[in-house]
Amino acid sequence: MTSLAKLYDRLERHDWYYQMSDDHRCWQRGEADWKEITEMAASIPGGDELKGAFSTHYYTGEPWGNEKQPKPERPHDGPTCYQCEQPVNYLFDDGRCKDCTRLIPDEVLGNV
Ligand SMILES: [Zn+2]
Repeated sequence: MTSLAKLYDRLERHDWYYQMSDDHRCWQRGEADWKEITEMAASIPGGDELKGAFSTHYYTGEPWGNEKQPKPERPHDGPTCYQCEQPVNYLFDDGRCKDCTRLIPDEVLGNV
């Protein structure tokens, strides 16, 4: 299964400057990798946007004579809190994150 987080990892490993390589094999590898990434990005919602944000990051800055754009944040694969809608690593039984949960500590520990 492809996810935005997996796409992110691919984008991060991609050789963004392969087109400038004099080494043909290096160029070919970059080209094949880019083709796979493009297909991956097209197959998931938000994929093209993430790919675009990465391109913007790698193709801005001093050599391009413009302002370097920040690298996008790694998207989260985990569950989303029902209340604050933030992606979190762990949800409590009421579907909320540790900051939003309405369970009291004893309930969380199963003592009630
Ligand atoms: Zn929350």
